Amino acid sequence: MSLIESTATELLGQLQSGRTTAVEIAAACLKQIDRHDAKIKAFLRVDRDGALARAAEIDARRKAGKPVGRLGGLPVAVKDLLCTKGQRTTCGSRMLENFRPPYDATVIAKLRAADAVLIGRTNMDEFAMGGSNENSAFGLTHNPWDLTRIPGGSSGGAAASLAASMVPLSVGSDTGGSVRQPAGFCGVLGMKPTYGRVSRYGLVAFASSLDQIGPLGRSAEDIALLLEVIAGGDPLDSTSVDRPVPKYTESIARPLENLRIGLVREHFGEGLDAEVEAAVREATRVYQSLGATVSELSMPHGKYAVATYYIIAPCEASSNLARYDGAHYGHRTDEKAMAVELAAQRKALQQTGDSRKLEALDNPLIRMYRRTRAEGFGAEVKRRIMIGTYALSAGYYDAYYLKALKVRRLIRQDYDRAFEQVDLIAGPVAPTPAFEIGEKVDDPLAMYLLDLYTASANLAGIAGMSIPCGLSTGGLPIGLQLQAPPFEEERLLRAAHMFQQATDWHTRRPELS
Ligand code: GLN
Repeated sequence: MSLIESTATELLGQLQSGRTTAVEIAAACLKQIDRHDAKIKAFLRVDRDGALARAAEIDARRKAGKPVGRLGGLPVAVKDLLCTKGQRTTCGSRMLENFRPPYDATVIAKLRAADAVLIGRTNMDEFAMGGSNENSAFGLTHNPWDLTRIPGGSSGGAAASLAASMVPLSVGSDTGGSVRQPAGFCGVLGMKPTYGRVSRYGLVAFASSLDQIGPLGRSAEDIALLLEVIAGGDPLDSTSVDRPVPKYTESIARPLENLRIGLVREHFGEGLDAEVEAAVREATRVYQSLGATVSELSMPHGKYAVATYYIIAPCEASSNLARYDGAHYGHRTDEKAMAVELAAQRKALQQTGDSRKLEALDNPLIRMYRRTRAEGFGAEVKRRIMIGTYALSAGYYDAYYLKALKVRRLIRQDYDRAFEQVDLIAGPVAPTPAFEIGEKVDDPLAMYLLDLYTASANLAGIAGMSIPCGLSTGGLPIGLQLQAPPFEEERLLRAAHMFQQATDWHTRRPELS
């Protein structure tokens, strides 16, 4: 198998036995990017020289018999929202187009310490708001399985880079499904760890009570490897949880005995594509053939997950994004042009003698904020800021935000009850396979409904994972979602590995012309 087709775990074995080098792997990945990324556009920036230099340095160290980190020379692509010292971190937004953070996110620091080769930054929906990558300020990413379709989002570039064999490992973030859903649409694996499992320090915040960084890869073993590196408590993130990180890679090959899988009755209703349903049901039969029992259960509050998520996430976003005012960092409007405009308006109003309008003219500071934010944010981000500001305003706080928090608690209780009966919940990742570019851009509600099966895991803070389980008749990947109680990532990984021992969906790759 060629270098670019190999999994990270296979490559690591080859690196350790001296059959290949980090430079060879990086060069193969860069070549694949050169060949295909002009069409797919998974990457916003590729650090060719930096990656090759780093790979050479790791090779030299290994050759000299010195210690090499856990990822010892494997290329990793990073979603463009993890702060990386001195390197542009745009979050897919004009607002941060030229932002160079003065520090590394904890996950970046851990990747560096593990000797990953940071090869480039992947495209995403602006501030991770979206499910198709169509909200990026820097252009579309195309699904490698069908270039006319979206790759999913918001970690669309991360999933596409893996599906197109440009990298063996990728890091994304998941606030309402943004790792699991693009992984599903692109035929790769993605995990949203438990809230608190991975440090969010240096992750550009979208909705802080929901955001979680997660690994993407082409096999369960690879997800285990990457999670082992990035997980763990962190004094710099008070919401991270300081409990030991299991050796996921060591336990992964142990099959789960007497596994009890639950199917949520409400997941198989209106809106679910027949082929997706068939693939998911077939996947549960695979588990049955491996000794698992499958039962149905009800999660009565799941139907409110989208509504609840689309109150809480925008509320938190409106607060988190208040910092982009042009005064601290990020985009700032052209103040010379602004002053000229303001002077002209003032003069015109003085001539008409309209003193009321004259008084109402913005003061220069307010005008600077207004222009900066109007120019820096895209339409979807503005929509979320407005929804969030509205829902948090004095007259509506109780009716929307507080109510949403109560429903959030009920959703968590549904899970607690479900996990008394079953070990894992299985179901679809998204209601349909990847849709056409442009199909839903003018219909925010249709976009939001895509998060039907994924958002509840974020609201409840539990762990979830997406694994390839089929192809549609149109040749598009279908994902199976597995969900587990908090801090049971190991269970998810072992279950995913079992499935991959019995099936080969995760090995299917799109044909790239
Ligand atoms: N699609 C969801 C949204 O638009 C999820 C995004 C995410 O997980 N970052 O908010």
